[in-house]
Amino acid sequence: MSASPIRFALHGGAGVIDRTSLDAEREADCHWQLRNIAEQAHQALLAGTSALDVVQRAVEALEDCPWFNAGHGSVLNADGVPELDAALMDGRDRRCGAVAALRGQRHPIRVARAVLDDGQHVLLAGDGAARFAIEQGLTAIDDATLITAERHAQWQRASASGRVSLDHDVAIESSDRCGTVGAVARDLHGHLAAATSTGGMTNKRPGRVGDTPLIGSGTWADDRTVCVSTTGTGEHFIRAQVAFLVHARMCFDGCTLATAATAALDEVAQLGGCGGLIAIAHDGQLVLPFNTPGMYRAWIDADGRVDTAIYAC
Ligand code: ASP
Repeated sequence: MSASPIRFALHGGAGVIDRTSLDAEREADCHWQLRNIAEQAHQALLAGTSALDVVQRAVEALEDCPWFNAGHGSVLNADGVPELDAALMDGRDRRCGAVAALRGQRHPIRVARAVLDDGQHVLLAGDGAARFAIEQGLTAIDDATLITAERHAQWQRASASGRVSLDHDVAIESSDRCGTVGAVARDLHGHLAAATSTGGMTNKRPGRVGDTPLIGSGTWADDRTVCVSTTGTGEHFIRAQVAFLVHARMCFDGCTLATAATAALDEVAQLGGCGGLIAIAHDGQLVLPFNTPGMYRAWIDADGRVDTAIYAC
């Protein structure tokens, strides 16, 4: 019997996550949440749902969970407002959709999907993205409904000290929050897709756009090579073009996925950045490397079992 083509992985942000920042109950809850979403993705893939639909649904579920820095529970910018970035890409034909600095939507990944389905543009930003979402029938919400008390307090501390930080980075910000979210999948037909969603960095400048919605930086999918979703210090991921770099090393240099992913994160480190990525190759190899102490993550192993992890070891 041939092995199942199905693969799936998700992340909930990389950063300086140490064992003292999560109490046992919160840690168990995180594992449960990651597992639950990965199991639902697995069932959907088994039922024949496309990789593109599966990564979108997984990211929507993570956007709904207030612990993660995406949708409800996103970090706040320097004005104390959530401005959201999201993207998704279909490996079948490299169609993609993205939104940047979006306000007034609970599920930015849904708006990114509408951009993809519409097909005219790849990336919409700011007010134009918000107007497009409404034209597509997506309900506008009050930004205040996305803000949790913890994120508001976190922003007040960052604002008072003038810091811009990865939201769950305990080196500078004591927090039990999780981070940016993303998902990658390979479906029954061997097609690949990736999706990523974030509120970005705490106390960022209004209008700042990170790596997440930039195709080739934070998100990439190509059936010939790999699908990738990243998390970390966005400016460095943009400068290194991390997601595309993984693809390029595989496509043009003949690297294995593991070698290409490690090389891409090394580029980030050389630029002074940090973070991680999740990726699935066309042949089903799956990697989840990061160069921070932790990355919230879940994946389906070759036997179809869901695993979850937070710390490096
Ligand atoms: N990469 C995201 C950004 O820079 C942040 C993160 O992954 O936590 O917007």
